[in-house]
Amino acid sequence: MTGRQYRYDCEAVVDIAIKYVKSLSIPSDGRSIWIFDIDDTALSNLPFFSRPDVFFGVKTLNAELEAEFYEFVLTAEVPVLAATLRLYQAIVEAGIKAVFLTGSSERSADARAKNLKAVGYDTWEELILKPDSVNTTVQVFKSQVRNRLVVQGYRIEGNIGDQWADIVGSNVGRRTFKLPNPMYYGYY
Ligand SMILES: [Mg+2]
Repeated sequence: MTGRQYRYDCEAVVDIAIKYVKSLSIPSDGRSIWIFDIDDTALSNLPFFSRPDVFFGVKTLNAELEAEFYEFVLTAEVPVLAATLRLYQAIVEAGIKAVFLTGSSERSADARAKNLKAVGYDTWEELILKPDSVNTTVQVFKSQVRNRLVVQGYRIEGNIGDQWADIVGSNVGRRTFKLPNPMYYGYY
């Protein structure tokens, strides 16, 4: 994870995604969007998960570690996942707008926005976080948001995430891309 292989694996996914982006002819009506997950997609939680007491997900996150993870998010200093930023730049150049869609709490909205901008995601159509009142799974929450976007007339040209919950369900997009994540399964 901290060597080159994880980075290479992410780059391999993004290379294919960029090839796809370049094959599209995007209408100039501003309705084309690309969905980005945040945790371990737009941003990399490696600094947290490589801690000896987390050990790349070998240790199950208990309540205390969960709280420390949330503090890590609130620092707004989570590093970029470089491959995804490259994809972001390609979609913007192609005339597609970014929508960031995350299962993380809307209480972290300011930190997430600040963090995304700081690492190079300069602009987006929407940044959507999960309200604390939503009790569904991430997969259902994300499907409902995408359904709303499609009803509003957006075309989801692509969708990238590190969890299956990001890219299965309804209105997943014309094409989906799965980044590797050997650290955890089923959340963030
Ligand atoms: Mg994620």
